[in-house]
Amino acid sequence: MATTQVVLATNNPKKLIELRRVVAAAVREGSAPDIEVLGLADVAPYPEPAETESTFEGNALIKARACAERTGLPALADDSGIEVDVLNNMPGVRSARWAGAPTDAEANNALLLRQIDDVPAEQRGARFVCAMAFVVPDHGEQVIRGTMDGHVLTSPRGAGGFGYDPLFQPVGEQRSLAELSAEEKDAISHRGQAVRAIVPLVVAALSGGDLPGSKES
Ligand code: IMP
Repeated sequence: MATTQVVLATNNPKKLIELRRVVAAAVREGSAPDIEVLGLADVAPYPEPAETESTFEGNALIKARACAERTGLPALADDSGIEVDVLNNMPGVRSARWAGAPTDAEANNALLLRQIDDVPAEQRGARFVCAMAFVVPDHGEQVIRGTMDGHVLTSPRGAGGFGYDPLFQPVGEQRSLAELSAEEKDAISHRGQAVRAIVPLVVAALSGGDLPGSKES
């Protein structure tokens, strides 16, 4: 079976590992071509575009379009973050640098905890959001959203995952995301859902089809 390449436009090695795992599972489960997911380290370097949009979808498209244009390969890019109800859905698209640049997960988590220090358990609702964009040079683009509801804990728990995982307890779980195995997280996560929804489009496009127009769901 021929291997087809897709580039995931990210420098985050943990996201690349997560995406490779989900794509591999989707390919195993379906009659899909063998898809090789490259990271930005595997392609000629290019300047990262500024994430100037105010929505996850807009920023994911900026990153995927830039990557497809620079590499000539089909490109995936995600933009993700955590929305906290009592913070009017912030940090949102600012999640990565909530406590300032460069990204520092511990500082982000400490700041978020301080900001909602006095908020009772029943008002600590939050969700993770992931917009996954897929752009095929000259064959269209698509963007899909995945979400995971839960609440923000009062202190970090667990050592797995990344980012805000130790602070987030998904609906229906007694553990934080950082206490779940990688596979357990993939099964329910915003990124897992977005990737599983976009993989059939990737498979169809890599099998020679066009993508329908860009869709925000
Ligand atoms: P992006 O790389 O611009 O999409 O930034 C995403 C940021 O949102 C990350 O740096 C994390 O702070 C946060 N984030 C997104 N997805 C997750 C997740 O699955 N777990 C924990 N934090 C996440």
